[in-house]
Amino acid sequence: MATNLAFEAQEPEEPSAGILQRLGLLRSRAHHLEDADVQSVSPPIKTDLRTRRRLLNNIRDFLLEHDLEVVPSTLLAAHEACAGDNPVLTRSIARRRESGESVTQEWLEEKTEGTAASDNRSIEDLARKLERGIDDLSQATRSVRKATSDYGDELERRVDGLQAAPDTEAVIAQIADFAKAMLDRSRQTEEELRASEAETAALRRNLDRARRDAEVDYLTGLPNRRAFEEVLQAYHSEALETGDPLSVAFCDIDRFKAINDTHGHDAGDRIIREVAESLSGLCRENCFIARHGGEEFVLLYRGMSPEDAFVRLDGAREELAQRRMINRRTEKPFGIVTFSGGIADVSRFADPRDALVAADEALYRAKEGGRNQIVLAGA
Ligand code: GH3
Ligand code: MG
Ligand code: MG
Repeated sequence: MATNLAFEAQEPEEPSAGILQRLGLLRSRAHHLEDADVQSVSPPIKTDLRTRRRLLNNIRDFLLEHDLEVVPSTLLAAHEACAGDNPVLTRSIARRRESGESVTQEWLEEKTEGTAASDNRSIEDLARKLERGIDDLSQATRSVRKATSDYGDELERRVDGLQAAPDTEAVIAQIADFAKAMLDRSRQTEEELRASEAETAALRRNLDRARRDAEVDYLTGLPNRRAFEEVLQAYHSEALETGDPLSVAFCDIDRFKAINDTHGHDAGDRIIREVAESLSGLCRENCFIARHGGEEFVLLYRGMSPEDAFVRLDGAREELAQRRMINRRTEKPFGIVTFSGGIADVSRFADPRDALVAADEALYRAKEGGRNQIVLAGA
C-alpha cells in the first residue's frame, strides 16, 4: 500500500502539555468552527437558548420519527445530523427517507463509525489512568527520597551517639540492625518503583496505540473519517493561506449491496480492502486517502485543481474497472467491481465541509448517470 505521508505527519504533539489538556485542545480544534459561528451571531443569551431549544426539538423529532431508542449512539448520530456537524450524514438520511428505507440504529451506527465519541472516551480513560500512574510514580519517588533522608538522619544521630556511649558494642549491634532494616526497605521500595515504572510505560504504550487506532480504519488500515476531517481542516487552512488549489473526491463502490448479498459479508469486506489498496496505490504524491465509512472513500488532492484530480481519479477508476476479481474461497467471479466519484474544489469554500457536500452531490449525479464514472461538482 502506498505510504500516506500526510497521515504520518500527524504525530506527535507537544510533550509538555498535560494529556487531558491536549485531548481538550484536540476537541476544541475540531469544534472551533461552530464555536466561532455561535459567537459571531449570538451575543444575546436568548438567541443561544432558542438555538439550543430548536436543536433539542429537532433531535427529539428525529428520534421519534424513526422510532429510535434513546441510547448514546442514536443521540450522537441525531446530534451530528441535526447540528450540522456532519452534512454528509444529513444528506444520507435525506436520501434514505426519499428511497423509503428506514433509518435504523444499525444503519446510523454504520454511518457514524469512526467519529464516535466512544473513541474519545476510551482515550480519555486511558489518559486519566496514565496520569494517575504518573502521580503514583512521583509519589513513590517522593517517599523513597523521604525514607532515604529519614534513615540518613537517624544513622547520623546514632553515629554521633556512638562516641558518647558507654556500651559501644551494643550501639554497633543496634546500628547494624538499623542498617539492615534500611537496606531491606530500600530494596522493597526499589521493587515497587520498578513495578510502577513498568505499569506507567505499559499505559503510555496503550495510550499511543489507542490514539493511533482512533484514527485508523481497522478493516483497511487506511486513515478513518476522523483523521480525514482533521487533515481536511488543516489542508483547507493551508490552501486559503497559500492560494494553492485543493480538491476533494468522494468515492463509493457501485452496487456493493449486491456483492454482499451474493457472496456474503466477509467477501464484501475483502472487496472493500481490495478497492482500498487499489485506490491508495494510485493515490501517490500529494494525495491523502481515507475510508469515510462503509464502502465510501475520500481523497484529498493537494495543490491540484479538480480537473487534474479528475484525470488521476478517472485513471484509477478505469484501472479497477479492467480488473476481474475472483472470490478465492468459492472460485466464483465477483465480476467487475467499479466505483463512482464526485470531485469538488475545496479552496472555493469557506467551510471545507461544504466542499465535501458538493463532492457528495457530484457523486450522486455519477450514480444517477449510470455509475462507474467521475463527475466534477458544478460541471
Ligand atoms: P450504489 O451503487 O448506489 O452505491 O449501491 P450500493 O449497493 O453500493 O449502495 P448502498 O450504499 O445502499 O449499500 C452499501 C452497502 O454496504 C450497505 C451495507 O450493508 C454495506 N456495508 C457497509 N459497510 C460495510 C462493511 O464494512 N463491510 C461489508 N461487507 N459491507 C458493508
Ligand atoms: Mg454507500
Ligand atoms: Mg455503494
